[in-house]
Amino acid sequence: MSDSTNTVEDGSPNTVEDGAATDPRRIREYHAHVYYDPAGTRGRAALVRDRIAAVFPEARLGRWHDQPVGPHPQAMYQIAFAPELLPGLLPWLMLNRLGLTVLVHPDTGDDLTDHAEHAAWLGGMLPLRLDVLRKG
Ligand code: ZN
Repeated sequence: MSDSTNTVEDGSPNTVEDGAATDPRRIREYHAHVYYDPAGTRGRAALVRDRIAAVFPEARLGRWHDQPVGPHPQAMYQIAFAPELLPGLLPWLMLNRLGLTVLVHPDTGDDLTDHAEHAAWLGGMLPLRLDVLRKG
């Protein structure tokens, strides 16, 4: 799929400086993960979710996860969207996340790198459980 040398074998930071730059056209879609506290901020998360559904009907809203799932250390739901939606959806989230922490990451086909190194965080950075994504 790519001849890029930007791979992470052991989870260490990607410090490859002489490899080819990664072409953003590898990005198939984006995920935004909206984190919340089931006992405290679920209402706000629901408001954000309803508004996204209204403003971005093309975005695919995942189910509620009141328990941590996969690499995610807190309750969250996922929003999946095509690259074409990023210029509208990202600034919308910046202005309308209601204090919630949001992880935005690309899907290039490499789960570990997409979460560990390609991620953008709004409002804070949570420690992801990257072991879940490591193979072998
Ligand atoms: Zn994701």
